[in-house]
Amino acid sequence: MTAAQSNECNIPFNPEFCSISNDVLTSNYTYKNTIVTKDTETSKISIKPIEQNYKFKLNLNVPKTGIMLVGFGGNNGSTFLSSILANKHNISFNNKEGLQQPNYLGSMTQSSTIKLGIDNKGNDIFVPFNSILPLVNPNDLIVTGWDINSANLAECIERSQVLEYDLQSKLKPYMKDFIPLKSIYYPDFIAMNQYDRANNCLNEIPSDHQTGKKEFNIKNKWNDVEMIRADIRKFKNDNKLDNVIVLWTANTERCVPIIEGINDTKENILNAIKENHEEIAPSTIFATAAILEHTPYINGSPQNTFVPGLIELAEANDSLIAGDDFKSGQTKLKSVLTQYLVDAGIKPLSIASYNHLGNNDGLNLSSHKQFRSKEISKSSVIDDCIESNDILYPKDAIVEGGKPVDHCIVIKYMKAVGDSKVAMDEYYSELMLGGHNRISVHNVCEDSLLATPLIIDLVIMTEFFSRLSYKKIDENGIEDNTETYDNVYPVLAFLSYWLKAPLTRKGFKPINSLNRQRQALENLFRLLIGLPANDELRFEERLI
Ligand code: NAD
Repeated sequence: MTAAQSNECNIPFNPEFCSISNDVLTSNYTYKNTIVTKDTETSKISIKPIEQNYKFKLNLNVPKTGIMLVGFGGNNGSTFLSSILANKHNISFNNKEGLQQPNYLGSMTQSSTIKLGIDNKGNDIFVPFNSILPLVNPNDLIVTGWDINSANLAECIERSQVLEYDLQSKLKPYMKDFIPLKSIYYPDFIAMNQYDRANNCLNEIPSDHQTGKKEFNIKNKWNDVEMIRADIRKFKNDNKLDNVIVLWTANTERCVPIIEGINDTKENILNAIKENHEEIAPSTIFATAAILEHTPYINGSPQNTFVPGLIELAEANDSLIAGDDFKSGQTKLKSVLTQYLVDAGIKPLSIASYNHLGNNDGLNLSSHKQFRSKEISKSSVIDDCIESNDILYPKDAIVEGGKPVDHCIVIKYMKAVGDSKVAMDEYYSELMLGGHNRISVHNVCEDSLLATPLIIDLVIMTEFFSRLSYKKIDENGIEDNTETYDNVYPVLAFLSYWLKAPLTRKGFKPINSLNRQRQALENLFRLLIGLPANDELRFEERLI
């Protein structure tokens, strides 16, 4: 490899494949893969290597970026703002262990490293993830959001009981002026136990003074889209932002049925909103508004906001979308542990996951329909792993409707434990010659301190992908002379690492394995600076 070059942006890159001009990094990359076919009669496998040349462009100027959270006043929303303000203003605080400094632990972009290469003795050299290519510094994010509850963000951190008391006290002066924007509440979509919280809603009808009962207009849905669009535009203009990202971290909604003629195409879903169809949820309103404003939209909750019609709308508008459901603790570990067992040739027979938590998310999930959304997104996380090994799980042995692995998910609301979610998992597997292996995992931690770094990463990486474009170069190495580059595909499956039930482009299956998800991000960063994909052959050591 030619010696790496430095440049005014201080990016190490391989000049054989990359160049920088006018703050744009251009990288050439040959993507290699293998087409595998299996003869159904003889089971003979044939392989055909394929190659495709690409040219990538990355704008190296990091734009001024704003983030609008739906559910701003919730545990995640208020912890997200707290983490940014604590780091930005370098707020240290005391807990029972002594003085603590603010940090971004748990954020892959801020607190993890990537292997870049080796030194001349063959030892691995790692560099911070965020030092390779320019990424937004989370301290620079401009933050706002909507909530159906009017509490200001200083009140919210007290209510959420996530942060140490000393940190809360020090943050409150910075947070009290953050007031959530009014949101949209259609009572049918989140649990009825959230009804009392809804006092900050654009669609509230002036109350009937006799009964004191709150009423909400659910028959003006297109107007609701327009109001959210106006909020996005105003935030962008008021703060002179180049880029805004909208992220749903509000309560889990119930799932909606996919209905022909209603939410199956982009035209139908727009009509269904205009006709106030009952299966149009608040999250549909937010996602539609964001897509129409060409603003990336990320779904951090499990509900199926991305029905076919909405995906089609995002594709047609070339607007980035990603989801569903943050992959924080239990599920992240599950996607690692199951991969380990299956790759080791050990056969998981059952996985039982029990949770109890006492925060507002837990209260909402104590309602069956909302729990069902969570159950679906949590269940899918082992699918790709099981499918990858037909020695352990022969396809023809899985009887119709039967499951290769018994997988159960239980979530109970237990107020006393607050945000300190308890997750207990048992992995029961078959070993050789009739043996069995039982792994029990007991995990306790502040749920929102696991989820917030994921929100940071999702925002930072979504902004990064907004600056990346590419074009294909034909097999003779001839590129068309046009300066037309395509954006990455609107369904941002690159973000799967942070999501429990990754949304994928139609026709493709999600990748759940954490290692494979991270590998894709690492190798993308590497190719952009002209390095080959990482392998662990270590020939310096292993061959003479
Ligand atoms: P939370 O209940 O503390 O916060 C949700 C907030 O959303 C509340 O303040 C509520 O008032 C608000 N809200 C409800 N409907 C709204 C609407 N239509 N518009 C605007 N605001 C609305 O919950 P949380 O712990 O912050 O979790 C948020 C979401 O993230 C949940 O759906 C949860 O399932 C999901 N999630 C959390 C984790 C985690 O580890 N914390 C992991 C994966 C997914």
